[in-house]
Amino acid sequence: MIRISIKTNLRKEAIDITGIVKKHVKNIKNGIAVVYVPHTTAGIAINEAYDPSVAEDIIETLSKLIPYSGNYKHLEGNADAHIQATITGNSIQIIIQNGQLQLGRWQGIFFLEFDGPRHREIYIKTIEG
Ligand code: ZN
Repeated sequence: MIRISIKTNLRKEAIDITGIVKKHVKNIKNGIAVVYVPHTTAGIAINEAYDPSVAEDIIETLSKLIPYSGNYKHLEGNADAHIQATITGNSIQIIIQNGQLQLGRWQGIFFLEFDGPRHREIYIKTIEG
């Protein structure tokens, strides 16, 4: 398993980590990569990377749907981030074929920060086959 550290810069942001993931699976010819986020207030998603405004819209819409202030029981001040992380999920799986991540033409992999800025980790596990 590979552990990657990243630093986020905003309370909420989507960071394109496609290049980071590609770099760490380059020695796998055929198989699957699992990219896992070991946090309760961050998530991960595959979506459009060509137009960066798509990722901005996703973050803004999640922020509107699950606002910072609400009738939350969790008193740490980041209940919104926990809920957003639950909705987006903790992991993705990608097929690797002939040494290439099988992402669609417009797809990229995004680390989703919901309660930054923080130091975060991403785990990558590859399975050959
Ligand atoms: Zn919390």
